Amino acid sequence: MQTFVVQHPLAQCYLSVIRAAGTPSHDFRRHLNHLARLLFLEATRELPVQEIPVQTPLQQTSGAQLARPLVFVPILRAGLGLLDGILPLVPEAVVAHVGIKRNEETALPHAYYANLPACISGADVFLLDPMLATGGSACEAARQLKEAGAMRITMLCVVSCPEGLAAMKRAHPDVPVFTTAIDDGLNEKCYIVPGLGDAGDRYFGT
Ligand code: URA
Repeated sequence: MQTFVVQHPLAQCYLSVIRAAGTPSHDFRRHLNHLARLLFLEATRELPVQEIPVQTPLQQTSGAQLARPLVFVPILRAGLGLLDGILPLVPEAVVAHVGIKRNEETALPHAYYANLPACISGADVFLLDPMLATGGSACEAARQLKEAGAMRITMLCVVSCPEGLAAMKRAHPDVPVFTTAIDDGLNEKCYIVPGLGDAGDRYFGT
């Protein structure tokens, strides 16, 4: 499995904003959306396009369109924060959902919802979760996507840690992970440190 750390200076600035405990939800949202776009642009660098004819007001020229459909799969609920950032870039993308809740006592993933489209096998699939902590949710989500037929999965996560990356590497060595930070590790409650706290609570203001 390949891990790509997006070290764009803007990413480091946005990351500092969402890490800060005093950042209000509206700023947290805005900066998480920016980070999602930076990750997505990096992760889609090699997407195949096909040539199409384009008629400008002046003459015919050639243009491009994506060769395959895109499917975005936010892991509910914090993954919605990444979706909000990238959907405006590809509004025609299909949005699927996977609901996986972490049992706060055991930190084990509990899958409670999935809605995956039939087109997933021919698509480039982007699995979205701002945090890759134990890797439990991401591994389970990737398993569900593969069971539904997905063949090209890329994971976008803003903050990751060695434990989560190792879990993904073990379970899904074929799924590249794009992240803006590899933090130190997990605390006793399986939160990433230094991290940013609970991404879902901070994004939704709960
Ligand atoms: N989920 C979060 O929102 N934050 C963490 O640190 C770990 C998992």
